[in-house]
Amino acid sequence: MSGGAGQRADIGVIGGSGFYSFLDDVTEITVDTPYGPPSDSLFLGEAGGRRVAFLPRHGRGHTLAPHLINYRANLWALRSVGVRQVLGPCAVGGLQPAYGPGTLVIPDQLVDRTKGRVQSYYDGLPRPDGAEPNVVHVSFADPYCPSGRESALAAARANGWDPVDGGTMCVVEGPRFSTRAESRWHAAQGWSVVGMTGHPEAVLARELELCYTSLALVTDLDAGAETGEGVSHTEVLEVFARNIARLRTVLFDVITKLPESERDCLCTRSLGGQPTGIPLP
Ligand SMILES: [Zn+2]
Repeated sequence: MSGGAGQRADIGVIGGSGFYSFLDDVTEITVDTPYGPPSDSLFLGEAGGRRVAFLPRHGRGHTLAPHLINYRANLWALRSVGVRQVLGPCAVGGLQPAYGPGTLVIPDQLVDRTKGRVQSYYDGLPRPDGAEPNVVHVSFADPYCPSGRESALAAARANGWDPVDGGTMCVVEGPRFSTRAESRWHAAQGWSVVGMTGHPEAVLARELELCYTSLALVTDLDAGAETGEGVSHTEVLEVFARNIARLRTVLFDVITKLPESERDCLCTRSLGGQPTGIPLP
């Protein structure tokens, strides 16, 4: 990859493939990483005067299941083209009756209920390129970027969408949906929404000192919060299609609202000067 201006970006969006239609002058580039290839090419372009790199989380044909996504490669690839702030729109189930289909949640907490996903760059294990990273422990008390959250809330409100400010995203392994018992348990903890991709996306961003903001669109009430047949994939797709145009507009607006000068949030200091043993891209 050569490093021309057209191949750089400072904001990354990881989302469904419907999202990059808001980019102007799109360049598709292939990026390889020490962790293997990301989900797809990066689509680089401009939105609201900002340089944006879009990455289809599940691949452009939506062929990758949530538990098989190469999250490390995805975040690494974005950082390697210059990205420092990441927006992660995703479809989720509502765990509380008040959070029905069409609700937009900007969570401020996360609970990891995934199993066996690789969730660190600094696990001390050799990489395919032979490098051996140090073991590093990052603070993850507040998993999302505070200024990214503020930008997302402001953008949603500016577009007539009353977002839920805060709440806990529970991330499950998938690809199956939760049983009623699991869902009722999640709801009883007071958690707000349940998804399959929010982890380890957020923590890997933190390990690369990237800002990460989740925009969670509720497409259905989870099995424990409703009384019908339970979640169906068709239902999820229908609600997502209805709201995707709206979410695209909000995303475009968030991009214009993200801090442009030097970032001043905890995300920029998450490694606290600890030596990682590997150079960040
Ligand atoms: Zn930040």
